[in-house]
Amino acid sequence: VIGGGPAGATTASLLARRGVDVLLLEKSAFPRFHIGESLIPETYWTLERLGMIQKLEASDFPRKYSVQFVSGNGKESAPFYFHKFKPAKSSITWQVLRSRFDSMLLDNAREHGAEVRQSTRVRNVLFEERRAVGVALAANGRSEETIRASVVVDATGQSSFMARKLDLKRPDRRLRKAAIFAHFRGAHRDSGIDEGATLIIYVRENLGWFWYIPLPDDLVSVGLVGDPGFLIAGRGDDPAKTFFEEIDLCPALRSRLSKADIPSKVHVANDFSYGSSEIAGDGWVSVGDALGFLDPIYSSGVFLALVSGEMAADAIYAALRKGDTSGAVLSTFRGRLESGLDAFRNIIYAFYTPGFSFKRFLEHHPDHHGNLVSLLMGDVFRPEVHEIFTPLSQYCESVHSTTLAVGERPVS
Ligand SMILES: Cc1cc2nc3c(=O)[nH]c(=O)nc-3n(C[C@H](O)[C@H](O)[C@H](O)COP(=O)(O)OP(=O)(O)OC[C@H]3O[C@@H](n4cnc5c(N)ncnc54)[C@H](O)[C@@H]3O)c2cc1C
Repeated sequence: VIGGGPAGATTASLLARRGVDVLLLEKSAFPRFHIGESLIPETYWTLERLGMIQKLEASDFPRKYSVQFVSGNGKESAPFYFHKFKPAKSSITWQVLRSRFDSMLLDNAREHGAEVRQSTRVRNVLFEERRAVGVALAANGRSEETIRASVVVDATGQSSFMARKLDLKRPDRRLRKAAIFAHFRGAHRDSGIDEGATLIIYVRENLGWFWYIPLPDDLVSVGLVGDPGFLIAGRGDDPAKTFFEEIDLCPALRSRLSKADIPSKVHVANDFSYGSSEIAGDGWVSVGDALGFLDPIYSSGVFLALVSGEMAADAIYAALRKGDTSGAVLSTFRGRLESGLDAFRNIIYAFYTPGFSFKRFLEHHPDHHGNLVSLLMGDVFRPEVHEIFTPLSQYCESVHSTTLAVGERPVS
């Protein structure tokens, strides 16, 4: 398994637990910083299967009960509480400090029997004819080490090792976004069950949006997402300056961050939305971001990393037992995974459609309220939930053409 993020650690844990010999190679030394801190409720089931629930319950990660939207002029919607829609312990999730969360998942893989090597970069995947047969490690001044494997799992995140190597990576041109983000200490936190709420705060004139995610150690993660033309290309070459300028222009953030320390490091991510035309081939499988990433809105990334890692582990285990690790057998989970990806993609496209509003969509289609909430919680694989997509796409087309006709800006 190449990469020890949530996807790689999940595949490694679930295979090692069933007695498969697993070697996981991670280029960094954990703990390391990573973005992607807000979980969605449906992560519960894979975390439960991994044996992580008790560990998370014992952690100091804030519990996330809700999501709340705040307009560009500071008007707050009522928080949407997941457990009120679906009263179950799986409906309350966590906001995670990824350095700690990813270390916990990697330790878990080790406890399940996987061998984990950190500070070990995979330099190449070895092929014989068209079959992946192992990896070559970075030499580090010594002679290059090669390791053979029945199956190579690409869990390299946005590096997408296999998709790049085999020219399978497909950018999503409808979702070309950039993000600027940082951790603040001492920012405002709500109290009680609202402490761990994710806030989605619209930028002035809906030119983008901020996430506001409370974390342990009195940290809050704040990120600004928008078109690269607005955030990067048109603003000089100082993303940190753009970030603080937009915070200053946003009343809801200005007040929440007024007593917070200025972060020492501001991060930038750009052009992060893509897919891959294949999820597996002879002797290899891709999982998590290595396979594709959509967009930060709706926090689908870690969920998809966990479930694709889980689906891949099941497919690999079945393939090893069958003695057939061909691409055809290893990619048996493709249809199911793609249905979930399509579901998220559709609601993300809706969010970015100029003039679109979920509130107004539901006024026209109140019967789809349950489906929409299910999707936002991550319940994306149930075929019934997908019944929302025909009316949703018709509604998007109608608001888009009206908005373009009257020249409005997008509204929330
Ligand atoms: C701006 C932004 C905001 C986001 N916010 C959220 C959010 O709020 N909630 C959410 O759920 N998701 C969010 N995401 C998505 C989330 O970060 C990812 O989906 C998630 O981290 C994917 O997990 P992964 O295991 O596939 O990849 P990663 O977590 O990226 O792990 C990949 C690992 O592979 C290692 N690696 C790479 N190359 C090699 C190599 N050659 N050899 C060895 N090791 C290698 C890396 O060091 C890394 O540790 C966000 C993403 C972005 C861009």
